[in-house]
Amino acid sequence: NVVMERIQRRKSLQLRNQQAAWQESNDGQSMMEFRRSLPAQKERQSLLEAISQNQVVVVSGETGCGKTTQLPQYILESEIEAARGATCSIICTQPRRISAISVSERVAAERGEKIGESVGYKVRLEGMRGRDTRLLFCTTGVLLRRLLVDRSLKGVTHVIVDEIHERGMNEDFLLIVLKDLLPRRPELRLVLMSATLNAEMFSSYFGGAPMIHIPGFTYPVRSRFLEDILEVTGHRLTPYNQIDDYGQEKSWKMQKQALRKRKSQIASVVEERDGAVLVFMTGWDDINTLKDQLQSNPLLGDPSKVLLLACHGSMASSEQKLIFDKPEPGVRKIVLATNLAETSITINDVVFVVDCGKAKETSYDALNNTPCLLPTWISKASARQRRGRAGRVQSGECFHLYPQCVYNVFADYQLPELLRTPLQSLCLQIKSLRLGSISEFLSRALQSPESLSVQNAIEYLKVLGAFDQNEELTVLGKHLSMLPVEPKLGKMLIFGAIFNCLDPILTIVAGLSVRDPFMTPFDKKDLAESAKLQFSCRDYSDHLAIVRAYDGWREAERDRNGYDYCWRNFLSAQTLKALDSLRRQFLFLLKDTGLIDENMTMCNKWSRDENLVRAIICAGLYPGVSSVVNKEKSVSLKTMEDGQVMLYSSSVNGKEAKIPFPWLVFNEKVKVNSVFLRDSTAISDSILLLFGGNIQQGGLDGHLKMLGGYLEFFMSRDLASTYLNLKGELENLIHC
Ligand code: ADP
Ligand code: MG
Repeated sequence: NVVMERIQRRKSLQLRNQQAAWQESNDGQSMMEFRRSLPAQKERQSLLEAISQNQVVVVSGETGCGKTTQLPQYILESEIEAARGATCSIICTQPRRISAISVSERVAAERGEKIGESVGYKVRLEGMRGRDTRLLFCTTGVLLRRLLVDRSLKGVTHVIVDEIHERGMNEDFLLIVLKDLLPRRPELRLVLMSATLNAEMFSSYFGGAPMIHIPGFTYPVRSRFLEDILEVTGHRLTPYNQIDDYGQEKSWKMQKQALRKRKSQIASVVEERDGAVLVFMTGWDDINTLKDQLQSNPLLGDPSKVLLLACHGSMASSEQKLIFDKPEPGVRKIVLATNLAETSITINDVVFVVDCGKAKETSYDALNNTPCLLPTWISKASARQRRGRAGRVQSGECFHLYPQCVYNVFADYQLPELLRTPLQSLCLQIKSLRLGSISEFLSRALQSPESLSVQNAIEYLKVLGAFDQNEELTVLGKHLSMLPVEPKLGKMLIFGAIFNCLDPILTIVAGLSVRDPFMTPFDKKDLAESAKLQFSCRDYSDHLAIVRAYDGWREAERDRNGYDYCWRNFLSAQTLKALDSLRRQFLFLLKDTGLIDENMTMCNKWSRDENLVRAIICAGLYPGVSSVVNKEKSVSLKTMEDGQVMLYSSSVNGKEAKIPFPWLVFNEKVKVNSVFLRDSTAISDSILLLFGGNIQQGGLDGHLKMLGGYLEFFMSRDLASTYLNLKGELENLIHC
């Protein structure tokens, strides 16, 4: 111990010298000068004092004032100055991976270091940190998973939870866990950071924790609502119902025209001054559509003078850098972004903001047990936030593409995610963290979800086989909680490994956890859909189509034709690359769990057995099942909860006049106006009986022993007659 202490002491002194040397160097000084110009600097001392004297502190301040990049750094610097550099350990959580990465890179640069020295990051399946990393930026999910194996956060001195105003599910969850932990770890410090001013709620949740507000500077931003924009050239106001459907297909054409008119009037204002333009859109597909449109039909004159960038959660880091960089003189930067750019990312040179007024929000209909993903009106807080992004460096302009009267009826704040999403992963986590009864635990949240939502999630996990009848984790459940994917996808991975059918399953799971690699550009929808159909080979499965598309791409890549292949087949090379790297990471994880052997001698023995692939898809997606009834000219689909349902036209099954299988399993259903199924695979009765649902007794072991007995028969493909013989027996076994 004495030796240990001495080593740490020496290390701490070394860190102190390094830090001082950087701050005195030329580069360091100009960096310090920039940092000192941020509003947070004025509060540095009072922040540090409050943190040392209180276990919990709530900090709020305008976006861009320096909360995320400065506050964790202040703590690190003061620890280093106090010669505790080698023993402190600061964790700062971010709701999104892209902000965890970009912020950590920024902070490392501000300290004149490379990423992975004293500052690092860790996000799902990826990280850069070293033995000497003292300040770690991670996603909230990563910290929650760490709590699985390290319940008291041993060695951690400070936890900073950022962007709590967003009220993400993980953040709300983490706060309950930390609230329980604090009395057991009196020396642990917790800082909550929020952009908007609802700090009181968080403060009172933590028994009246002190609040510190960082007064910000932003320049005035002129707000123009739709009526003001149209007034410019005397156009009549677009009727409210027309923009109500913004982003939805049926009125898209009308929208496009309306939008273009508005945009060109905006363009005339923009042309008067320099400065970047930030456009808030609802989602990735919208962004791509607009980007294509603007590229083929530029609104701002000379296209070589425009730098058009998309900003969304899964972009590559080279792309990301362009967003922060200043463009060449005379070049206009236009960033098309989702609400990611609302708070977590600050683009300094923005002078103009265009706000469509909507964001894609997941909501959850607990009564019908159906998640919905719809562009919905944002809250007043979001609209203010979006507007504020125009006043970072000088006075700016904000164009709201909706009338003032619509703004007036926006909700003040967005509903917390915990109250609007299915709770399956969360319930799994509560159990694996051994936090006791799920309902009791969730009743201690800032705002608790409806008990019906909780019950639905628990029932689902029982059917999936992750929980037993007493709501305790099964062996399968334990494995699932270790895998950083949705439980149903985790189950597919585990089954893929156990049934030696890994390759296609890796592709399918990776495909379902990134985006759809099949692209459907709006104006070439039919062409794109028939291109996808070629991958289906009449086997009635979107999932198998992904496998074929991916395998074909791999082959084309080998011949250096990958790009051409994607172009011909309406595939996104970028998504396929992401899918490819995700596949590798999943493989790594599975090796880690010991479910496949290091040399992988066996794990693809059955990979070519299409029926087995279908069966594993069914195991994961059950109870997402719809019955298939072939009518005269069309197919009628029904699920238990919703009755009649539809398929997206982009599904390979969506165009079929007949589906020669009795069932479809689907990945997701979404309520738009009717209920739509996304990504489906046709399966037989026996697959549904054998793999749908969960054989309760004996957990995973029992389940597999029983299934193992039938495996031979399964492979023999003579399913129908055997099925009839087995039916009675199976009905006892399978709990649907
Ligand atoms: P907050 O968390 O309060 O919204 P940040 O700490 O993220 O603010 O940012 C503070 C300031 O640091 C920003 O206004 C911007 O000037 C600068 N900054 C942040 N990230 C970067 C980056 N990646 N590149 C350059 N400057 C950055
Ligand atoms: Mg921030």
